[in-house]
Amino acid sequence: MAVPKRKTSRARRDSRHSGRAIKPAPASVCANCSAPISSHQVCDQCGFYKGRKIMKTGQEKLARRKELQQAKAASQQAKQHEDEALEAKVEEGESKP
Ligand SMILES: [Zn+2]
Repeated sequence: MAVPKRKTSRARRDSRHSGRAIKPAPASVCANCSAPISSHQVCDQCGFYKGRKIMKTGQEKLARRKELQQAKAASQQAKQHEDEALEAKVEEGESKP
């Protein structure tokens, strides 16, 4: 196994990590919602780039998921009501003869 001949000095080590410094704040503003964004990047607040809708935002995805859940719950409830009505009819039919 290769073993380093010398200890890496603090200066050498720290200069190696110089690229991990805190990056400057975004320099551009979104044309659609005027949120601060990096240039040449899709706005993560509204999902627009160059005046076009490019991607769904997290909030939109959440809203869509909620809608689907509510629709699913509603259909399940409707099915339950149907089943109950069917059972009631069957019981009525059994009691008549
Ligand atoms: Zn935006």
